[in-house]
Amino acid sequence: METYLNHPLAPYTTVKIGGPADTFIITNTTAEFIEALKKYQNVTILGNGSNVLISDSGIRGTVIKNMSNSIEYLPNNQVKVDSGVNLPLLITDTINHSLSGLEEFAYIPSSIGGAIFGNIHGINKNNFDRFLTEIQVFDLEQSKTYSLKSNILKWSYDTSEFATKPNLIILSAIFQLTPGDADTSRQKVIDIITKKLQTQSMNSLGSVFKNLPARTGHPADFAGRIIDQELNLKGFQIGDAQISPLHGNFILNLGHATAADYYAVVKKIQSEAKSKLNITLEPEIKFLGNFS
Ligand SMILES: Cc1cc2nc3c(=O)[nH]c(=O)nc-3n(C[C@H](O)[C@H](O)[C@H](O)COP(=O)(O)OP(=O)(O)OC[C@H]3O[C@@H](n4cnc5c(N)ncnc54)[C@H](O)[C@@H]3O)c2cc1C
Repeated sequence: METYLNHPLAPYTTVKIGGPADTFIITNTTAEFIEALKKYQNVTILGNGSNVLISDSGIRGTVIKNMSNSIEYLPNNQVKVDSGVNLPLLITDTINHSLSGLEEFAYIPSSIGGAIFGNIHGINKNNFDRFLTEIQVFDLEQSKTYSLKSNILKWSYDTSEFATKPNLIILSAIFQLTPGDADTSRQKVIDIITKKLQTQSMNSLGSVFKNLPARTGHPADFAGRIIDQELNLKGFQIGDAQISPLHGNFILNLGHATAADYYAVVKKIQSEAKSKLNITLEPEIKFLGNFS
């Protein structure tokens, strides 16, 4: 376990924004992760930092960067995976084992813990929970580990029961995959990455807002389309935070953006959507630290 005091968090996020953690811990195994969870109070878990805007003043208390990395192949096309494993790495590894299912999540720079917490959506509109059978958790309130069957948990688009139960920390999960042809799967992944590379920059947090479900008089709609075509905000910039000229729902760090810049762009989009279209755009990203 590595321990640092007053440690900058920006390097641990895709968007490279965020002030320091009072205490910053890197854990490399599930055993270390549990040890840290037992030892420290007031903890914030960081996966790959691809969905969190960390405030310029940072995060009080302890931030644990979870890098547990075991992948274990089980009978019946199941795989047990630590929550710190990189999703792109898991996709490659399962394809190399001729197991199919996760290809549609290619180009998402997530950890497994972050993907479960946010129940990410793939390009075929499947949510991540579709491939999960069981999740091992550490319960901060009871200070113990146990397993939860996936089918008893509440899942929905871009959110999970874990988002409402901060006492449950995801340690690992069992996936149910299906046998598949590795070359076909590899080609699917290449096709997805090639397409996404055209509009999605890594110096971002992915889609900032959730897409809109169908509502009275309106079909389901993409937040990115609204920001681009209804609000004409593509390219809008505050400081070094810019709405991507290529994707209305991505806000980029052009180099030296602060969390305050990024947050101001988020607020600008929300206020324009409300005042011009009477639409409430709900953030998909999480805000960590103080934004008042
Ligand atoms: C270029 C790009 C493309 C993207 N494309 C997509 C996409 O197609 N679909 C999609 O859904 N998302 C997409 N995203 C968003 C993002 O990658 C996902 O939301 C991802 O799952 C976040 O995982 P993470 O490990 O980075 O989590 P983090 O950003 O580190 O954390 C997110 C939240 O999860 C919590 N968390 C993390 N690990 C654990 C754990 N072990 N236990 C409990 N809580 C935990 C954190 O505390 C935090 O609240 C994209 C992002 C980028 C930058």
